[in-house]
Amino acid sequence: MFAKILIANRGEIALRVLRACRELGIRTVAVHSTADADAMHVRLADEAVCIGPPATRDSYLNVAAILSAATITGADAIHPGYGFLSENADFAETVEAHGLAFIGPTGAHIRMMGDKITAKTTMKALGVPLVPGSDGALASLEDARAVAEQVGYPVLIKATAGGGGRGMKVAHTADELEEAWSVARTEARTAFGNDEVYLEKYMDRPRHIELQILADSHGNVVHFGERDCSLQRRHQKLLEEAGSPALTAEQRDAIGATATAALRKLGYRNAGTLEFLYQDGQFCFIEMNTRLQVEHPVTEMVCDVDLVREQIRIAAGQALGYDQSDIRFSGHAIECRINAEDPATFLPTPGTITMFHPPGGLGVRIDSALYTGYRVPPYYDSMIGKLIVHAPTRAEAIARMRRALDEFVIEGVKTVIPLHRQILDDPEFQKGEYTIHWLERFVSSRT
Ligand code: ADP
Repeated sequence: MFAKILIANRGEIALRVLRACRELGIRTVAVHSTADADAMHVRLADEAVCIGPPATRDSYLNVAAILSAATITGADAIHPGYGFLSENADFAETVEAHGLAFIGPTGAHIRMMGDKITAKTTMKALGVPLVPGSDGALASLEDARAVAEQVGYPVLIKATAGGGGRGMKVAHTADELEEAWSVARTEARTAFGNDEVYLEKYMDRPRHIELQILADSHGNVVHFGERDCSLQRRHQKLLEEAGSPALTAEQRDAIGATATAALRKLGYRNAGTLEFLYQDGQFCFIEMNTRLQVEHPVTEMVCDVDLVREQIRIAAGQALGYDQSDIRFSGHAIECRINAEDPATFLPTPGTITMFHPPGGLGVRIDSALYTGYRVPPYYDSMIGKLIVHAPTRAEAIARMRRALDEFVIEGVKTVIPLHRQILDDPEFQKGEYTIHWLERFVSSRT
């Protein structure tokens, strides 16, 4: 087992990783920008190294500074968290080339899944069902027209290098295709420096359902069921559940078997998530994330597993030590992302937290690096914490979440807590009847 892990991240996820390390008896090294000198992960880590000024490219994306910090502190592994360098194949390879363990998959697998076309063709070859669409990148607008006619409108033009919902445009009819084509390409070129695009059938009422997988380096692959992440605004998830109100245990077992078989054949290792759009009983793979996800706690709650601990054990070469039949699903979990944003306009609200009082009680978990007096810096993601609840049934989880949100006090900055309350009070949400388009409509219909 490792003696010391460097955590190449900040905020709640740095704290999350730190907690797993502590429980495993592993020492921790925090890295931070000058803007995060008084952050919680810095305070709690055994050692801390400042790696640069606030701008992420100079600090949390600064590979040379992070590797130097690992070398001078004598760390033997790096956990990248999510975001930042977590899906950077070159980083993973550089870390390993320096004789350190990267707590994640191989650089080759990160690279493969980072290119959405390669990801789709790979998964298709491994027997995973896809959204109907082009076989790879589109060579021309004429090519796009031909595929669109074949799969039927509406269609979605998507950037190969896409992420965060950018470089994605819908065409409802043939007349709209040319514009969607050129806008998606321009956006992709600007955001990713790569204007390669592909085409998918645009699904009108799917749910976003993803599967949590763990694979060790001895060929053992298991899944921990699904998360329903359909509640999104501008393709950003806001509230997640495990399990999905739309799936039966049989459906979960079936897609789980397909996905684990695929990753076993691929020789994948560590944590990964397969994302699907689910409509009319069909799963369509859209992408794979080769890292821990923000919403991993809902899975941890229903499966009683510490996914970060498992990631660390796997990276240290240990075998899982259990198989699919040992994994049990118990109760229901919901996560509300707490963003420092105005709940009406969604504009970020950096500033000083004058009062922080988290909720507690049975089945309530807070993953947050906040404390009273903390200054939310304007440079990073607006997510300042996650509130997770677990209860025997979905209805009880909803009641528990409403109760916990009512107890939650965050003063000094506006947060999206009022929006979460409104969602939880909505009869459609309570019935579990929502698709990926539900939240946008809900938000725009609010008075
Ligand atoms: P990104 O990497 O930019 O997040 P994804 O491929 O994961 O892109 O898609 C992000 C979101 O966009 C999905 O969760 C879903 O809400 C929507 N989406 C993606 N593909 C389709 C599709 N074919 N039809 C309808 N919605 C889609």
